[in-house]
Amino acid sequence: MIIRPLDVLYMGVDQAAWSFLVRGPQGHALVECGPAASWPSLERGLRASGVAPSDIGDLLLTHIHLDHAGAAGHLAAHGARVHVHPFGAPHLIDPAKLLASSRRVHGPAYDLFYGDLRAVPEDRVLAVEDGRHIHAAGLQWTALHTPGHARHHIVWLLDMERERHAFMGDLAGIHVPGSDFLLMPTPPPEFDPAAWIRSLSRVIDAAPTHLWLTHGGLVARDRSASQAFLRRAEAAITQETAALRAEVRHAPEEAERALLGRLRPAAAGAGVSPERMAQFIDEGFARMNLAGARRAFLPRA
Ligand SMILES: [Zn+2]
Repeated sequence: MIIRPLDVLYMGVDQAAWSFLVRGPQGHALVECGPAASWPSLERGLRASGVAPSDIGDLLLTHIHLDHAGAAGHLAAHGARVHVHPFGAPHLIDPAKLLASSRRVHGPAYDLFYGDLRAVPEDRVLAVEDGRHIHAAGLQWTALHTPGHARHHIVWLLDMERERHAFMGDLAGIHVPGSDFLLMPTPPPEFDPAAWIRSLSRVIDAAPTHLWLTHGGLVARDRSASQAFLRRAEAAITQETAALRAEVRHAPEEAERALLGRLRPAAAGAGVSPERMAQFIDEGFARMNLAGARRAFLPRA
């Protein structure tokens, strides 16, 4: 088995999001596919690996946010089956609601970064229940339902001989390239800190040997490094939750200033360059995290 990370050039930024090409004894599978706008980059990456889009039998999605799943319709058009959380399945078949909510969250940046979303034909979508095994590329995978970042989130475990690979989606955060900084994304409408901690505990109990982050790539390659990284993600979401709880009590602009005033020095201290800072920790990120936190912590009007 070979796992090859393909850079989807999300938002035109290198190493911002990955798709993982898995070559098994019976063909190829892909974990995550990037946004629809990145389809040309993904297709190039596949071809550079000697793989045509029609060679991908199965696409496994950690969740349906568009930076992870936007190109699913493009792959399904080439014949791939799409494995997804039951809550996500209807939105792949009819993406109208997903499109509207992403436009609401991202505003004018939407078309530039998310692109032309295509529906996945119903007979290509497979909704996977918690704890279920599937076979893809001749390998055995297990779906762990892992809400917290989104309620339609799955961590995929891939067992191969003595290795257990965990494809983490956004559950272990965003590892900013070129640094050791971990950023926790808490978007609306389903950020749920208690569920997030429970989900991380489940992955800790599953004792993976390798951790693959959609935003970060391979961050741990043995059991003890994986445990340490998962504990670190647990501490990071606990800390982020406490800080956001205080920040959402302020007016929006002040809250945004407080959040950026907290994250930017911490990131700089962890080696994030000014260029990466501008790409990863901007006003858009602050607004997204605060909107998720308001929804989670403040009584609904
Ligand atoms: Zn996400």
